Amino acid sequence: MEKIPSRRLSTSQNTRPEAGLLYLVATPIGNLEDLSFHALEVLKGVDGIACEDTRHSRPLLDHYGIDRPLIALHEHNEDRISNGLVERLLAGENLALISDAGTPLINDPGFPLVRAARAMGIVIRPIPGPCALIAALSASGLPSHRFTFEGFPPRKSAARQTLFESLKEDPRTLLFYESSHRILETLVDVGKVFESDRRVVIARELTKRFETIVETTAGGAEACVLESQAMQRGEFVLLIEGSPPRRHDDALTAEQERILTILLKHQSVKSASAMTAEITGARRETLYREALKMRGETSD
Ligand code: SAM
Repeated sequence: MEKIPSRRLSTSQNTRPEAGLLYLVATPIGNLEDLSFHALEVLKGVDGIACEDTRHSRPLLDHYGIDRPLIALHEHNEDRISNGLVERLLAGENLALISDAGTPLINDPGFPLVRAARAMGIVIRPIPGPCALIAALSASGLPSHRFTFEGFPPRKSAARQTLFESLKEDPRTLLFYESSHRILETLVDVGKVFESDRRVVIARELTKRFETIVETTAGGAEACVLESQAMQRGEFVLLIEGSPPRRHDDALTAEQERILTILLKHQSVKSASAMTAEITGARRETLYREALKMRGETSD
């Protein structure tokens, strides 16, 4: 079997030039064709592939003619076997870690192995690819420049609502994974905690035949999923729009703004803001700043 040709670190960067590399290889989240060329090359070349469930990964590996030895690494044994895998890496073997789907360590096993390998100076190579949360975020139409991924919400409704309450004021887009067993009850809690017009996107069965990405609201999400049996099946990423920016404490009300606009037509900035302050009780400084903006002048 050919050794992996590409991207080996030079010895000047590698603290253990004699050691092998640990590859973290992303695999498809539904569509088998989403395995990258680089991932294929790596998986064909390593000495062993650690995977969550060998029965689950076999069809993918067979599909691509990958016949490397498999090592079971899952949440129940990873603390125990990670050091053994690090020994193998130190002895010069190249290993890959994959999970059942998507990117390893993203709500999947591998953290103890990566920690142990890094502690021993093993070079770790991510081979990026599918990840359900990133796929969902990119297609959601919700702001993607700032987001927070919260994994699976708690199973119990009370704990779930507490978590949602703690995130309610967060301005970032909120992302969760959810299973078909709990999607409905989770959406009920979304409706209880978030403002009813908060935008919600339900991304279901991404990259699969029945892929569905629907936009609804916190108030309408439960009904949206109740609409059809199909909407309650499969794998889900749930996205909730971040909290809208707070109105600045001294922002003007519509009425204050209206009066200021009228007075500005007839008065200087100074007197229009003073008069509006007297009529409405709003702060004169705030009105003055707003009046300058309305006139196209700046207060700073
Ligand atoms: N490591 C994976 C990744 O990179 O996305 C996530 C693994 S996590 C154990 C599995 C959860 O991811 C599912 O319950 C679901 O919430 C989400 N997920 C995985 N594949 C998905 C898909 N095709 N469509 C929607 N959600 C998916």
